[in-house]
Amino acid sequence: MAEEKLIASFAVDHTNLKPGIYVSRQDTFQGAPITTYDIRMTSPNQEPAMAPAAIHTIEHIIATWLRNNPIWSDRVVYWGPMGCLTGMYLIMHGNYTPQEIRQLILQAYSHLAQYDGPVPGAQAQCCGNYLMHDLPMAKWEAQRYLQRLQNHFHCQYPNVQRPQDQSGAIFYDA
Ligand SMILES: [Zn+2]
Repeated sequence: MAEEKLIASFAVDHTNLKPGIYVSRQDTFQGAPITTYDIRMTSPNQEPAMAPAAIHTIEHIIATWLRNNPIWSDRVVYWGPMGCLTGMYLIMHGNYTPQEIRQLILQAYSHLAQYDGPVPGAQAQCCGNYLMHDLPMAKWEAQRYLQRLQNHFHCQYPNVQRPQDQSGAIFYDA
């Protein structure tokens, strides 16, 4: 069997990443820009990743907030967790700067940090693992990330070679 190639995004050094908001990649679809952001909440391989139940609750509450936001709902393509459990992916119509996305994320996570009520969509009809939620830990993670975004905003991956694929797309992370 032929050896599989390491995909470009895994070639980024994941031992020196700080929490922040980073452009992961930019694409064009039918002439319009589509941008993927890494909402990096923890330092990979340097501190514990998030608990699956907490990140699942973050997914539900922030997705609901984004989809109900009168300004941003139409611009959001996707919101979901990173498989490594160190942050979230946000895919947007347009090419906003990390600083602009920071303002959106500060609002979204402030909502989550103060959230008091049932987790939206946490019923068997709506969710593939509806018992796997942890609202207190989701709020704790939101509060910590808010402080990180307010105190030291990182939006450039440090000291990494940015891989480029054959189509010219630049990868910052997987
Ligand atoms: Zn779910």
